[in-house]
Amino acid sequence: MNKKQKLLQELPSVDEILKSRDGTRWCSTYHRRFVLKAIREIIEIRRKEIIEVSSTDISIEGMAKDIEARIQKLSAFSLQPLINATGIVIHTNLGRSILSEKILENVKKVSENYSNLEYNIEEGKRGKRYAHITGLLREITGAESALIVNNNAAAVFLSLSTLAKGKEVIVSRGELVEIGGSFRVPDIMASSGAILREVGATNKTHLRDYKSAINENTALILKVHQSNFRITGFTEDVSIEELKKLSEKYNIPLMYDLGSGCMIDLRPYGVYSEPSVQEIMKSGVDIITFSGDKLLGGPQGGVIVGRKELVERMQKNPLTRAVRIDKLTLAAFEAVLMEYVDLEKAIENIPTLNMLFQKPETIKERANKIASGIKRHVKNAEVEVVSDKSKAGGGSLPEMDFPTFAVAIKPKGISVNELEERLRKGTPPVIARIKDDSLLLDARTIRSREIEELVKGVNAAIY
Ligand SMILES: *Cc1c(COP(=O)(O)O)cnc(C)c1O
Repeated sequence: MNKKQKLLQELPSVDEILKSRDGTRWCSTYHRRFVLKAIREIIEIRRKEIIEVSSTDISIEGMAKDIEARIQKLSAFSLQPLINATGIVIHTNLGRSILSEKILENVKKVSENYSNLEYNIEEGKRGKRYAHITGLLREITGAESALIVNNNAAAVFLSLSTLAKGKEVIVSRGELVEIGGSFRVPDIMASSGAILREVGATNKTHLRDYKSAINENTALILKVHQSNFRITGFTEDVSIEELKKLSEKYNIPLMYDLGSGCMIDLRPYGVYSEPSVQEIMKSGVDIITFSGDKLLGGPQGGVIVGRKELVERMQKNPLTRAVRIDKLTLAAFEAVLMEYVDLEKAIENIPTLNMLFQKPETIKERANKIASGIKRHVKNAEVEVVSDKSKAGGGSLPEMDFPTFAVAIKPKGISVNELEERLRKGTPPVIARIKDDSLLLDARTIRSREIEELVKGVNAAIY
């Protein structure tokens, strides 16, 4: 018998490992299914190593470390929290808006108990799921009626399918936008069954373009907010007021896909490109759609507000059932909307707004804290606080730069790319960006309670 054959014969069996001290411990801590899977996988790896290089550690103790690491990997949740050090507040890949404790408390209360989700307590009979938020949305936006569906893409889809299936929808060529790769106005229009009637040119659309496109098959005039880009230079588009007049004259509903759904007048904060929902409502638009998790700062959802008769038609569309929101989202939404009853406090209480409009001094203070924490523990790097610019993200306010402060790290033993990767793969993962040859941790999106963990993470990454 040669060495290989001998080693293969001595390789412990699944059963032997399972009955060892480590095996018993794993079975009492982790799911047995994952323990078995990990043991089998590591045995298989060892078997291959024996065949290929004929030397490996086949003692149970020697294999235990690998097996346990494998079990931990199998047992870990895939969807997990991380530290957003990018400074991008509404980061679509990182979950867009985060929710406050107060909002989550309501989600918890509603979801760990039975609720009146579709039950009318007053009358003791079946009630409506959407009734819980229509009152607040009407109060805040001034709309006649409201509906919330799964996301804004679904809101636009449902609106088009209800109001314009088999009919024409007029849209300016300057507004045929793509948002985040999978939402394209022409595509969503096609799948809803509405017929796109493009008018004007990319940079200029006139009222006469809209007017000459109107015919007996026109069902809707649609305006789409240029969420994630701006066309500048020789441009012109038609104001909501003019479109409103046209829509009234020809008795064709006017819809505005607003995208972000900001409920606050942001002009005092230097933002002039994001009209508030209330403002658009006042100008007489019949239907407005917007996201729940962009500038509104809530959970994923698509809000439809507007004329009662049109919203009621949407509620009756069988599609509404397919895109309806669940009770967790509804509970979060109601709590977020409650914050908007007092607009002054909303900026303070809603994390997305708070992070966007916090004072630069506050960000600087946090950046200093992070930097001094890192300097105290990490010797092998140059660390300094630098001023920089962050973006809103999520297709919101693309033209705006928000002045910010970041901690710039230049590691000595390793490359900056290596540091980025180690932080990203750490526990918890830290997502940072690289600028010039420094790694930047933007303090805008790092919360005070994350600083300790962040410092530990940097320390572990640079050794
Ligand atoms: C973001 C956005 C959408 C898509 O909204 P989701 O909530 O991501 O589905 C649609 N239209 C506009 C103008 C947007 O900005």
